[in-house]
Amino acid sequence: MTGYAEASRLVAGDRRAEKALEAELTDLIADTYTRHDGLLERADALAARAAAAGSGRYVALAELARADVYNRTGRAPEGAGIAQRRLESTADTVVAARAHAIISGGLWRLGEISESASHAEKAFRLLTEEDPLCLRVDHAMVLAAQIYGYRIGGRSVAAFRYAQELADRLGRPSMRIVNLNNWAWVQYERGDLAGAVELVTRMRRLAEHTGHRLTASCVDTLARVLLESGDPGQATEVIKAALAGFSDETEPDAIPSCLLTLAEIQRRRGDLAGAVASLTRSREMSVRAGMAESSARALHELAACFAATGDYRSAYEHMVAFHGEWTRLRSEQSEAAASVVQAVFDIEHARRTSREYQRLAERDPLTGLWNRRKCEQHLNGLLGLAPAARGALSVAILDLDHFKQVNDRHSHEAGDRVLRVVGQILRDTAGPDGRAVRLGGEEFLLVLPLGGAAAREHCERVRRTVADQDWSGVGRGLRVTTSAGVTEVRPDDDYSTLLRRADQHLYTAKHGGRDLVVGD
Ligand code: GH3
Ligand code: MG
Ligand code: MG
Repeated sequence: MTGYAEASRLVAGDRRAEKALEAELTDLIADTYTRHDGLLERADALAARAAAAGSGRYVALAELARADVYNRTGRAPEGAGIAQRRLESTADTVVAARAHAIISGGLWRLGEISESASHAEKAFRLLTEEDPLCLRVDHAMVLAAQIYGYRIGGRSVAAFRYAQELADRLGRPSMRIVNLNNWAWVQYERGDLAGAVELVTRMRRLAEHTGHRLTASCVDTLARVLLESGDPGQATEVIKAALAGFSDETEPDAIPSCLLTLAEIQRRRGDLAGAVASLTRSREMSVRAGMAESSARALHELAACFAATGDYRSAYEHMVAFHGEWTRLRSEQSEAAASVVQAVFDIEHARRTSREYQRLAERDPLTGLWNRRKCEQHLNGLLGLAPAARGALSVAILDLDHFKQVNDRHSHEAGDRVLRVVGQILRDTAGPDGRAVRLGGEEFLLVLPLGGAAAREHCERVRRTVADQDWSGVGRGLRVTTSAGVTEVRPDDDYSTLLRRADQHLYTAKHGGRDLVVGD
């Protein structure tokens, strides 16, 4: 097997492995929408397989799948924390996009809606057509739901429609159903009952057709839409049928939340005893499962039921208890959200400043050109390449003639302006693969992807441009000329031999009368 065939066989193997990991991730994400048991183990198994296949991307995505499960099971600060650390340490935009999606989900559950929407937007925007479809679907769904949450109402219908198209393309029923549910809920909340009915009908048909059970949240939307469209009997039936299907073991949050919906229907139908029984059960289960939010909601609903029966004392007591729990919950949530928001801000700030510092460390402040350090690094990189990979390469050292006199006769400021203009000329003429450097003082260097003769011609053009420049705006009667030494790289050159040769040519140019280019 030739080296090339061997390499392409390996690449094909990597691609197959990547496809298998993608399929596994797709299953995991789709299932996260329906149930939470066994998912952490599956995320770990995916991480192990990704590590064995050498895919850092999927190791990270598996860890983020684990964080997603935390988000959905009352451990949002942990989930968002994992994602925030990933965001900090990754250079892969797909991983960064996923981390933004998980941070968004965590913040959303902690009640930090506007920050959450901004992460949802990044999660969506960072992905391209080539990236895994399951992530694109998921991020489109999150964005649609969050645009609504952030109350940019008008845009949400288009976002839901787009997410639905992508979900249909992926073909996972759980995701298609959940997006229809979110969409229906938005229509319902906005008072578009007809639109909501159409969407829940579609959702129900899809569930029946694919043999998928509706989640508690889907059941809640369906029941409320039925109730609002004047069919409390069917609404109750839907809830009761769903309650019988959920398992307390694997979906601890589903039953309490359905019971809350049921209680509201019962109260509105005048069945206060039934409502109190449902709420009492809901609250007991939420407390047992440590679900502070639905337990507080149950208290609130209980207070409403007692008030409806005229038992104001119990109503008052439940309202006080609700208020205490709710306040505690909100302050815990906002503390957790604030710490995530702060940490993400710090990461982004650190990234920006380290990029900025790196840029500054590589540049000459006066001209903005590369400095000597960066030049050495760049040239060493080029010299380390095989000649065939490197292509033609020459360097030129340029030095302004009698520059001391420019300072003396005009001013140091005028001298600085001359240096800036020359820097600009060098940059403008260097071409896309050429580089201009300020070595220090009035000495510059050009890295040119050219052979010796072409490089000399290039420097000759630069020399003329500088000499022909109208310098009268900088200083009256000012004339500026340059001398240059140009040399083409030789097979056994290193950085210092190459620069030494260019410098010797420059010396010859100075002694030959200045305003001159000398080459090999
Ligand atoms: P030659 O033609 O032989 O190169 O003569 P020269 O006067 O250009 O050479 P010399 O090395 O004697 O002087 C260079 C001068 O460049 C000295 C210094 O005042 C000036 N110079 C160095 N850096 C800067 C700078 O950042 N700004 C200004 N305005 N002048 C600088
Ligand atoms: Mg000089
Ligand atoms: Mg000099």
